[in-house]
Amino acid sequence: MIADRGGIDDDAEGRRSGVAASDRVPLVSPASSSSVAGGSGQADGDVGNGVDSNNRDTSNYQRYDIQQIAKWIEQILPFSLLLLVVFIRQHLQGFFVTIWISAVMFKSNEIVKKQTALKGDRKVSVLVGISIAFMLHVMFIYWWYRNDDLLYPLVLVPPKATPFWHAIFIILVNDALMRQAAMAFKCILLIYYKSGRGHSFRRQAQMLTLIEYTLLLYRALLPTPVWYRFFLNRAYGSLFSSLTTGLYLTFKLTSVVEKVQCFISALKALSRKEVHYGVNATMEQVNAAGDLCAICQEKMHAPILLRCKHIFCEECVSEWFERERTCPLCRALVKPADLRTFGDGSTSLFFQLF
Ligand SMILES: [Zn+2]
Ligand SMILES: [Zn+2]
Repeated sequence: MIADRGGIDDDAEGRRSGVAASDRVPLVSPASSSSVAGGSGQADGDVGNGVDSNNRDTSNYQRYDIQQIAKWIEQILPFSLLLLVVFIRQHLQGFFVTIWISAVMFKSNEIVKKQTALKGDRKVSVLVGISIAFMLHVMFIYWWYRNDDLLYPLVLVPPKATPFWHAIFIILVNDALMRQAAMAFKCILLIYYKSGRGHSFRRQAQMLTLIEYTLLLYRALLPTPVWYRFFLNRAYGSLFSSLTTGLYLTFKLTSVVEKVQCFISALKALSRKEVHYGVNATMEQVNAAGDLCAICQEKMHAPILLRCKHIFCEECVSEWFERERTCPLCRALVKPADLRTFGDGSTSLFFQLF
């Protein structure tokens, strides 16, 4: 553009045409440049348009800026992708191991949920096989990375000083593998409550929920030693490192207190003998209702009378209340707002990074 202007100054007279005008004002859009060219000459075009052309120029400059930004992004995109590829190559094993462990964990979550939903049809041999497979997977990963300080954070001992990406790797692997181990434990629990109906079915849901909240509490503590070591880096001065470490531990404490409260609630729920959304129905009440459960369409088994006076088998309705808080028939709000249950055998899939 600057070279163009120089050229125009050299033979200014010869290029005072419409084309030259649009050359000298490179930022105007075709529409406005044609209006400038429509004037008698360059000088007329500049003076004549006045305020109008100023406003137009401002918006044109903004459009030009956006175009420049888009062009800039277009230029750095291939380089960023290249850097990403190099990053993945440098951390190739860690990258794929993390993806593999996460994929196995997601799949295992589905398997445990399926086994829990099978109830009486569960096979002990299948459950034993699943929990052995889960445990072997966990032990193999820890054996494979036996030199990488993975085990220290499990007992809340800070590992050696680690670079940022290795710290992230340790946290992700430990977080996923602890969930995997808990799933193996849940399978053993499912064997114990295999023939569960009615009361024992509710007990199983309470135990699964308690295991999950214990796991959530433990997982909240797991990254702490790794980040503690990371923030306690004296390279930036002891005041700075004490400040960041102190702030981190304060944030951590608030979230751990919350997890402890959930754990205590889950523990209290375990000692609760009667269901909290209804009472055991009497023979007369069952007979008056017709002795047919609306959920399973069979004869009532351990009938429960809800607050809305509808009666269902305990097993059917407790399974319903895993997901809902209202009566399946009349939609009246029956179950009080409560701790989230994990009675279906599921595990929280969010990663606990901090
Ligand atoms: Zn039923
Ligand atoms: Zn009802």
